[in-house]
Amino acid sequence: MLKYRCYVCSSTFEITTTRYRCDCGGLFVLETGSSVFEVDRSDWSLWRYRSLLPKLTKESSSPPISMGEGMTPLVKDLDGCILKLDFLNPTLSYKDRGSVVLMALAKALGVKEVAIDSSGNAGVSVAAYAKRASIGAHVFVPESTSSKKVKQLQLFDAEIHQGGDRSFAALAIAEFLEHNRDIFYASHVYNPFFIHGVKTVVFEIFEQLQGRLPAEIVVPVGNGTLVLGVHEAIEDLKRASVIQVGPKIIAVQARACAPVFEAFQQVPISSYRLSQETVAEGIAITSPPRASEIIAAVSESNGSVIAVSETEILDAQRRLFEQGIDVEPTAAATYAGYLMLRKSSCIESECAVVLTGAGLKSR
Ligand SMILES: [Zn+2]
Repeated sequence: MLKYRCYVCSSTFEITTTRYRCDCGGLFVLETGSSVFEVDRSDWSLWRYRSLLPKLTKESSSPPISMGEGMTPLVKDLDGCILKLDFLNPTLSYKDRGSVVLMALAKALGVKEVAIDSSGNAGVSVAAYAKRASIGAHVFVPESTSSKKVKQLQLFDAEIHQGGDRSFAALAIAEFLEHNRDIFYASHVYNPFFIHGVKTVVFEIFEQLQGRLPAEIVVPVGNGTLVLGVHEAIEDLKRASVIQVGPKIIAVQARACAPVFEAFQQVPISSYRLSQETVAEGIAITSPPRASEIIAAVSESNGSVIAVSETEILDAQRRLFEQGIDVEPTAAATYAGYLMLRKSSCIESECAVVLTGAGLKSR
C-alpha cells in the first residue's frame, strides 16, 4: 500500500490522510515501490508509463482519467538544441501532467470537491481535470490574477475565491480547509502525486530519443515541481537499470525573483526579498516550500541553478518567435538560461530545454 513519507523526519502517513504536511513541518514525498520501466504503446497519453506511476487500484487496464496529456513534440532549435514543447498539453501548460495524476488520486479516494491555491497555470489545469472527473473545484487566486485566467476558471465551473495577494490566498485556503475537512487539498506544491505525473516528461524524452537522455535538461524553477519531477524520473530509470547516470539538471530563475538561485550559492531563503517584478510570473515564488529538496535534486545531478535578467527573457522569447514558437515569458526564461550557458560555452553536449507554458496564456 502506498504511503506518504515525511521528507524531514521519515514519519509515514496513509495516502487517505487529509493532512498535507507532517507535525514536524516537513513535506510529504511518495515512493511508488516500482522499478520496472514498461511502456504501454497502445496508450497515447502519459498513462503509457503507468508501470512507474503510483498504483491506485488493482485493475489498471485503462487510465482513470485522461485528455491525452503528454506525448508532446520534441523539435530542435536552429542550433540543434532539443526543445520539448510541453506547452502543447490540453490546458496549454505542462501542469496537466501533474493534474491528471492528482485528480486520479482524488477520484480513487472518492473525493467530491477539491481546493487549490494558484495564481496561474496550475489552478486552471486542476480546474479542467476536476471538471473532467466530475469533481467540484475551489480555486483561491490573488486579486491581481488576470481576467483571462479567471474567465478560464469560470468556464470550468470552478468556484473562485479571489482576494489579497499570493500569501493571502495561501492563508485563505488554509482556513477554508480547516472548516471543510472533507474537501481535498489538490496542491501542486504539497501533494507528491503531482510530481509523479510531471516526471513523465523525462520518460517521453527518453523514448523520443530512441532510448537515451541528453546530457543536460534545462527547466524553470519556481515552486520546483518540474525540477523534482525530473529528479524523480532519473531515480526511477536508475532503479529500473535503464540508465546508469542521469542528465544534469539546470534550473533557471528570473534574477528579479531568485531565492533558489541564491540558496544554491548558500544564501538562506528566509532572508530573501523580491527585488523587482518579473515578466516570468510563473516562477516568481519568494519562498518555495520544497526549496531544500530542489537544491538537493540539482546538486545530486551535478547540475546548477542559474538566473537570467528581464532583457534576456524577452530576447529569448523573440528568438523563439523567430523560429515559429510562441511561449509565455516563464518558458522563455528557461530558453534564456540555455542561451546564456551556450554563450559562455558551458554547454558542450546535447541539451534539452523544457518549454512549459503557451504564449497565448500571457496575452
Ligand atoms: Zn516529519
